[in-house]
Amino acid sequence: MNLAISALEYISDVKNGNITAEEFIAKTLDQISRHEGKLHAFISINEKALDQAKAVDKKIKSKEKIGAFYGMPISIKDNISIKDGKTTCASKMLSDYVSPYDATVVSKLKSQDAILIGKANLDEFAMGVATEFSAFGPSKNPWNTDYVPGGSSGGSAASVSALECVASLGSDTGGSVRNPASFCSVVGLKPTYGLVSRYGLISYANSIEQIGPIARKVEDVAFLLNHIAGKDPNDSTTIDNHAQDYLAEIDSGIQGKKIGIIKEMSKGAGLDKNVESTFWRAVDSFEKLGAKIEEMSLDMVEYTVATYYVLTTAEAGSNLSRYDNIRYGYPMDLEGYEFKSYISKARRNFGPEVTRRMIIGGFVPSAGFAGKYLLKALKVKSKLKKQVLEAFKKFDFLISPTVPILPFKFGEKIDDPLAMYMADINTVTANLTGIPAISVPFEIHNGLPIGIQIHANSLQEKQLLQAAYALQGTTSLPGVSL
Ligand code: GLN
Repeated sequence: MNLAISALEYISDVKNGNITAEEFIAKTLDQISRHEGKLHAFISINEKALDQAKAVDKKIKSKEKIGAFYGMPISIKDNISIKDGKTTCASKMLSDYVSPYDATVVSKLKSQDAILIGKANLDEFAMGVATEFSAFGPSKNPWNTDYVPGGSSGGSAASVSALECVASLGSDTGGSVRNPASFCSVVGLKPTYGLVSRYGLISYANSIEQIGPIARKVEDVAFLLNHIAGKDPNDSTTIDNHAQDYLAEIDSGIQGKKIGIIKEMSKGAGLDKNVESTFWRAVDSFEKLGAKIEEMSLDMVEYTVATYYVLTTAEAGSNLSRYDNIRYGYPMDLEGYEFKSYISKARRNFGPEVTRRMIIGGFVPSAGFAGKYLLKALKVKSKLKKQVLEAFKKFDFLISPTVPILPFKFGEKIDDPLAMYMADINTVTANLTGIPAISVPFEIHNGLPIGIQIHANSLQEKQLLQAAYALQGTTSLPGVSL
């Protein structure tokens, strides 16, 4: 049986009786046990997966109502709450935490008979670009295990690429779905802010982050989006705009569409030469598909990484203050501590990157400095948004390489936070402005994947997925050989 099938192929195979959910889950679990030793894409595996698959098959046999996923195995980033099993955020602080409820996206998938095969590894609290900051050890890139899989949803992307599941859900605060999708040669979508409920997603910087689907095919991402999007009474930031079928008309093409090349993301010293030449070949492909291409400028992009790190650390400083070993965290004997020493001891359970961000996050919004940092960052954010909205008056899509660099080796950037933060330069704009963006695998250079990023205006996911699908059609990439 072939594990390298798309979500849509899986569904038709089960419907036609070519495979059973049980067979597919058994084979998937076998794949996981054979490769997890070297990949470490998962933090935990769903022990009941096989029983759940049997229950799905029973429903199918007895012609009971069956959900749209037909027992499809999906991995879930471990900062998304599931009430059975642990939700750790890859942090020592939550290593034994069991959520009392399911995230909205999780209940939606469960109610449609998806099998949540395991919790995927990530950088601690989703802060990073390599999963090197997971308290439980990094995930490896299935294309070459000496290299990082990207981050922070590195476990999600690695598990999809290594056929350890059909699809995954990640979270994207500044690129965490798109970056690992690019590094592992899979598709990753950051939806419009508010399109998908964040209820049950453990907050890092809640004003800009979204849960997003990762899969091997664009059409699978569209299918997942159909089932996770929508207004949620438990998340007041969700938008009531879900009359769309993202899968229907996905093959409409992009003939005559106007595409802008974001100059600030597609040129310059920080851009790897191989990524740059791959990008220009993608531009050619878009042109052959009948799009009209023009270079354009978003000059605020220069300030976005600084802005992103001011805003997100300020939010993280506040969001993570609940991990005090009283409400959440390690059980700690209160004896012998006064308040401050207790808190400082408790916070030592955070890893180095989270600690760094908590310290910066306490500083940037503080009295006397807020004007210089937080308020200035908010101004840049609104200027950037204006520029982007203006651009979409003229263009249907804006494109760039997803990440300016190739996947790198473990340890290469861990001691150089600024170099690490610069890897986010092409992805943070979508988060700061709320627009959707997708990464589509385009080439493999010396065994290392390179993805292309397409942005669309808010709530234009349907058109965005059509463009991504058209680009996908110009490629014929191999799967990973493990
Ligand atoms: N690399 C970015 C950061 O560390 C993005 C993370 C994310 O999207 N969760 O903040």
